Amino acid sequence: SAKRAGKDRWRPFAADASEGARTSLELRTDLPYVVERDQLTVEYQPVVLLDDDSIVAFEALVRWDHPVHGRIMPDRFIPIAEESRLIDEIGRWVLTSAACTVADSVGRSVDVSVNISPRQLERWGFIDDVRKALATSGLDPRRLVIEVTESASIDQVDQVVAVLTAVRSLGVRVALDDLGAGFASLRHLGTLPIDIVKLDRSFMRRPMQERDLLPGLIELIRALELIPVVEGVETRAQHDLAMRLGVRLAQGFRYGAPAPFAEAWSMVDTPRRPLDEVVSR
Ligand code: C2E
Ligand code: MG
Ligand code: MG
Ligand code: MG
Repeated sequence: SAKRAGKDRWRPFAADASEGARTSLELRTDLPYVVERDQLTVEYQPVVLLDDDSIVAFEALVRWDHPVHGRIMPDRFIPIAEESRLIDEIGRWVLTSAACTVADSVGRSVDVSVNISPRQLERWGFIDDVRKALATSGLDPRRLVIEVTESASIDQVDQVVAVLTAVRSLGVRVALDDLGAGFASLRHLGTLPIDIVKLDRSFMRRPMQERDLLPGLIELIRALELIPVVEGVETRAQHDLAMRLGVRLAQGFRYGAPAPFAEAWSMVDTPRRPLDEVVSR
């Protein structure tokens, strides 16, 4: 607090540092209880078809509403969850929650994309987690996309390939997330059984000479018969760049920020088309 900071003002940096460390420790201590205490929530961000600006999918993004520290973003707690099997419990909760939420709006089809840590794919049980989420929600498997994030490195590639193959055989599609964030993921393009490639938002921010890599990269993605999606489109200029590149699917604050489902759904005022009507497998 301000009062406390005033009292400790002869050691401001030390006081700040210890406060930050205390918060981190508290998050770490409280994380195992997030599911049973019902502190997780999911926000939804539109994925837009550039042909007509219609929303074809929503990406589910988890948040932790901590009673003392407020809203904690996933970049702060997912890496901690990945250190243990906690990521499986949190992942199952997000998957089921997102599938149920989107299945409820069936009839007006929209796809949902859920982020999955490579750690989760190291368990055979993940296949059953997906089956159960589909059964519980009644969601059509073809409405579900799982995004494999590069938040953790993919160590057991053979295992990950086998699990992804099994999940795809259910009709679920797989996206490789954040391509270009680290060069390691480029190697996964040819080895992982995937349908979609999401180009990391850093591409949209890079200087022109680095952006010049984009046309070749997109050509490579298409040659592999994969579907490119650009992320992080914030400005008109970035939108125009995506159009010039011939990419048909985009995501970014320009089209809509992550929001509670009801709000995300209300952003949609044009007829919605499911992803697979636009891009077939
Ligand atoms: P991601 O999967 O690449 O998700 C996109 C992130 O970029 C989101 O951050 C989103 O809010 C942000 N974003 C979207 N459009 C824009 C834009 O135009 N500009 C900028 N600057 N940012 C934009 P968020 O929600 O903080 O999530 C961060 C990351 O946390 C995600 O990156 C994903 O890797 C991970 N994550 C989120 N939810 C889950 C989950 O349920 N499970 C797992 N394993 N990871 C998750
Ligand atoms: Mg993602
Ligand atoms: Mg991404
Ligand atoms: Mg990311």
